[in-house]
Amino acid sequence: MKKVKGVKKILIIIIIIICILTTSFIVYFMNNRTFHVKEFSDIVEVNYKDEFLENPGIVCYGNKLKCKKIIGIRKGWVDTNKLGEYNVTYEYKYGKKTLTKVQTVKVVDKENPTLEVEDTEFFYCPNGTIKDYKASALDNYDGDITSSVTKYLKDGKIIFEVKDSSGNMTSLIKDAKEKDDTKPSITLNGSNVVYVKLNDKYNEQGYKAYDNCDGDITSKVKVSGVVDTKNIGEYTISYKVADESNNETIVKRTVFVYKDVNYTTPTGKSIYLTFDDGPSKYTSNLLDILKKYNVKATFFVTGKGIADGYDFIIKREYDEGHTIGLHSNTHNYNIYVSEQTYFDDLYAIQNKVKEITGYTSMIIRFPGGSSNTVSRRYDGGAHIMSYLTKKVEQDGFRYFDWNVSSNDAGGTTSTNTVINNVIKSLGNGSTYIILQHDTKGFSVDAVETIIKYGLSHGYTFKTIDTTTPTVHHTVNN
Ligand code: ZN
Repeated sequence: MKKVKGVKKILIIIIIIICILTTSFIVYFMNNRTFHVKEFSDIVEVNYKDEFLENPGIVCYGNKLKCKKIIGIRKGWVDTNKLGEYNVTYEYKYGKKTLTKVQTVKVVDKENPTLEVEDTEFFYCPNGTIKDYKASALDNYDGDITSSVTKYLKDGKIIFEVKDSSGNMTSLIKDAKEKDDTKPSITLNGSNVVYVKLNDKYNEQGYKAYDNCDGDITSKVKVSGVVDTKNIGEYTISYKVADESNNETIVKRTVFVYKDVNYTTPTGKSIYLTFDDGPSKYTSNLLDILKKYNVKATFFVTGKGIADGYDFIIKREYDEGHTIGLHSNTHNYNIYVSEQTYFDDLYAIQNKVKEITGYTSMIIRFPGGSSNTVSRRYDGGAHIMSYLTKKVEQDGFRYFDWNVSSNDAGGTTSTNTVINNVIKSLGNGSTYIILQHDTKGFSVDAVETIIKYGLSHGYTFKTIDTTTPTVHHTVNN
């Protein structure tokens, strides 16, 4: 009986075990009919401008041992033309069951920028400063990133580096030598030509000095030279600076001390300012400047200025002590057709000036000057200038050409060039007759500087009268 009882017990245990196993197996199979994610990346990267490819991974439905692969349906898009993060959703469906997975797609730029340096030889300063080399950098995403190029010195080599906005870096390593033969620069504040009135104070306007190796070296500039404002004349101030490698630069400033009003100098050097073709809208300003310096000038006027309504300017010129010369009534070169046409024109302007001022001018300047060749076009081979130059003097006129041309009716169109043209022509002669046109604003703007220059160099400004030494050109027709 005991043995039977034992067998029964064992059977019951076996049955219980079989029941448990069967239940577990059934439960196992029932419970595992679900989605299984076998391969899926939460984060994927795609290169800038590359094609975006789907990454749905591997998901299946069923149980672990035996399951059916499910095709993931993507929702969302990735623009690979724009760097950044995009969320893409994949949906896996089996029957009525759905699994959703979110994937982060990073559009990244991993391409290094290009970096080029034009120069072939490289130098650095004794103190390690590197001069500016012409580098250029281009990036596939950022475009021109030349301004981001950096450089530094390491073990006798210059290293150029540039990084794009994604941190991709390109370097160029260049063998370099220590050298400094570049002179520093000195920049003067204000003009390098300064005019100071007699007995006024000379104010130094300052300067800046810069060196490619040493940087701002303004404090090292040595200034020499004295301006004696008690005496008219030309003075030079020198500015000298040297860098650490003894490269030296000298810059000069010229200071003219001038008497603020025209006066008769003992030098015997005279300037006659003459203005043709006016009056015009610029002449009144010119008269103000002349008045300021007590300088008298000579105006060779035309009928056009009068027709334009500037007769009152001729009156003012006359009243303020300037000489009114006769240029032409019409200023048309067809006046050179004959003696008759020339004199008709001359007397016409003479009469107009007399009507305005009460003064009969006998001072003339031929349109084009006595040396003009334009008259050949009109006079039919009569050599009219040879004739007129004699005839006008026989009739009591005096004609004046010029020996200093501002070229303001030629190629010159700037005030500074007018000034330079005039100043370079002045020397130690006794008579300088300067030709300008008061119909040109830029030329009128040069007058004050010309006066200051003249007054600081011992010239007396005079007006032309019948006693003025003759300046005549060679007659060419
Ligand atoms: Zn003219």
